[in-house]
Amino acid sequence: MYKINYPVIDLHAHLRNDIPFHTKIAKESGIDVVVYMANCSPSLDNLRRIKKSLKEKRYCKAIPVSAITKGLRGKELVEIDKIKPYVAGFSDDGKYLKDLGLLKEILMRKILVLVHCSPSYEIGVKNPNLETEFVERYLNFLDKNKKNIKGWLHIQHVSKKESVKLIKEAKKKGIDLSCETCPHYFTYSKDDLDTKVNPPLGTKEDIIAIREGLADGTIDVIASDYAPLPRKTGIAGFRSFLSLSYGLVLEGVLTEKQLKEKIYLNPKKIIKSGGYKLRI
Ligand SMILES: [Zn+2]
Repeated sequence: MYKINYPVIDLHAHLRNDIPFHTKIAKESGIDVVVYMANCSPSLDNLRRIKKSLKEKRYCKAIPVSAITKGLRGKELVEIDKIKPYVAGFSDDGKYLKDLGLLKEILMRKILVLVHCSPSYEIGVKNPNLETEFVERYLNFLDKNKKNIKGWLHIQHVSKKESVKLIKEAKKKGIDLSCETCPHYFTYSKDDLDTKVNPPLGTKEDIIAIREGLADGTIDVIASDYAPLPRKTGIAGFRSFLSLSYGLVLEGVLTEKQLKEKIYLNPKKIIKSGGYKLRI
């Protein structure tokens, strides 16, 4: 059906506690590099655990991300400088980091920080606008602290129309950041599927806005947010990643060249922004 002649990078995946099993699925799905989040159990919040994780067998290239705070609790930073050479970046994915003081402290270094701007699923379903509020808070923070920031901020899994709008305006204003969305957010609305995924699925208008954001460059990356059990998020998968993403080309939303930017060139740039030496 389609031929992809470049390495595919998935900037957001969860490998839980079984790196061989999940990277095998990634490989079978046509993904060459996965960047995996720190919220396995116990979380990747110290060098010993990260080194141990790096020793596990993998079927494709798999680069860890360290937690920003110990136990992803949002209180105390991990040993950033020690950990930095071993990871693509830092993220408390799964949790929104409320403490802007900690965010500032970590972004004063030349590192990549990937941020989860949504509340828990249960709260997000009732308050779909919270994602946008969290995004806005970070955008204002970036605007105010421009001079002190050496790192790069990347907003994960953008899913709502208003968030896309704010990020578009921020980029126009010259605020440096990048963001991603996931195939389920440009494919399914909450009326199409009754499934638990965080952030929760949006409306038809959200889908249109996400597609427009991808097409006009507001959204830089498509990532899977592959999240196998224990969470019941069967739609956030490796297996559907390339077919749903390529669907945007077939539908005329993206050109082949733009798709290459979203699943290879931009993720590569973002991984390298913090100094990680990615050889592919
Ligand atoms: Zn997340």
